[in-house]
Amino acid sequence: MATMPAQVLEVPRPDWMSDDLTMLEDMANRFMEEEIAPHYERYEKQEIVDRQAWEKAGAAGLLCASMPEEYGGVGGTYAHEAIITEAIGHTGVDGFGIALHNAIVAPYILHHGSEEQKQKWLPRLATGELIGAIAMTEPGAGSDLQGVKATARKDGNHYVINGSKTFITNGQNANLVIVVVKTDPTAGAKGTSLMVVETDEVEGFERGRNLDKIGLKANDTSELFFNDVRIPTANLLGTEEGQGFIQLMTELPQERLLIANQAISMIERALALTIDYVRERKAFGKTVLDFQNTQFKLAELKSEATMARVFVNHCVEQHLKGELTPTTASMAKYMLTDLQCKVMDECLQLHGGYGYMNEYPIARMFRDARVQRIYGGTNEIMKLLIARSL
Ligand SMILES: Cc1cc2nc3c(=O)[nH]c(=O)nc-3n(C[C@H](O)[C@H](O)[C@H](O)COP(=O)(O)OP(=O)(O)OC[C@H]3O[C@@H](n4cnc5c(N)ncnc54)[C@H](O)[C@@H]3O)c2cc1C
Repeated sequence: MATMPAQVLEVPRPDWMSDDLTMLEDMANRFMEEEIAPHYERYEKQEIVDRQAWEKAGAAGLLCASMPEEYGGVGGTYAHEAIITEAIGHTGVDGFGIALHNAIVAPYILHHGSEEQKQKWLPRLATGELIGAIAMTEPGAGSDLQGVKATARKDGNHYVINGSKTFITNGQNANLVIVVVKTDPTAGAKGTSLMVVETDEVEGFERGRNLDKIGLKANDTSELFFNDVRIPTANLLGTEEGQGFIQLMTELPQERLLIANQAISMIERALALTIDYVRERKAFGKTVLDFQNTQFKLAELKSEATMARVFVNHCVEQHLKGELTPTTASMAKYMLTDLQCKVMDECLQLHGGYGYMNEYPIARMFRDARVQRIYGGTNEIMKLLIARSL
């Protein structure tokens, strides 16, 4: 079902795009087309991707590519993650949740974990033996993360975790969950800590149902419950309690850039598919592309997508230099995902009634796009963050 879209945008390859990265791009696209896309309809129906697909991705070097080789990774950079993420968007397997595992979960352990923690978890994340999730959101606390109610109480050389989380990506498959908890509920942000829970090793951990979403059907999203879950104190991320908020603030810009990379790849695919469609479809004795309205719409979208692609490439370059600011990352997340939703809507319209039929990829892409403006910090929260720089 999924084939790579033709190159629609005329943006030169960025300077950071080395020969190695071009090879990775070819390999990642091929992997998604050959190993994931043929099963994708089934994954959508069962609302979860098979674990074996994760293990195959691990064997192909597509898990934890930006982790150092000594921890089972490929020794790459964020550019590797951007390319793997975009391969998912370009081939239309949007619900394969490895991007979060690779570029959000693993970096928390690499950047904030002890040597022992890195050795314990990263190699198993790199093979797919462990599937990662990050559990921040709770039923009563989403945008306002300071309102997190889950707690971790110290008891000898253990922490005892209580609380519930919701909307957790990879929530059914995950067996390594980074949980945002309060170690001091009276201390606000300074009382927040991150704990790593290996779910196969503990009692009192339960998964709720696989949540019924409007899009990204192939991705499992769940509630998670922690009832007196005991984990060793060695599973605290960081050298002491209370560092959780700073750790989140450090890692969230990359999460936001990752969402922008996802968005631009899906935009490129939607434009390519739509251009193909309107070239073929006939009405009033001509092709739909012959109508000036179609040409103008697609000209507008191509122009906006070109600006967006240049901006995303710039942000990746900044990030590789360690210079991507939280403000710019928030701009990328908000601008790109707003544009993504606009592009999906306009492209669906150009498909007419067929655009509303699930057998046409644009229908699913339209549904998959919507959440991009919500998770990773809503676009309203992005504007708040940007406004702080005014
Ligand atoms: C498919 C999916 C996957 C997800 N994956 C994960 C995951 O893996 N891990 C995880 O921890 N979370 C995850 N989330 C949760 C996601 O990050 C939250 O849904 C999001 O942060 C918003 O929180 P909320 O749903 O509680 O909305 P609320 O915070 O209740 O927001 C409701 C509305 O109010 C607006 N709003 C809130 N505060 C302000 C303000 N100060 N100013 C202006 N407007 C405001 C919001 O923008 C929104 O429009 C996922 C969500 C979805 C839908």
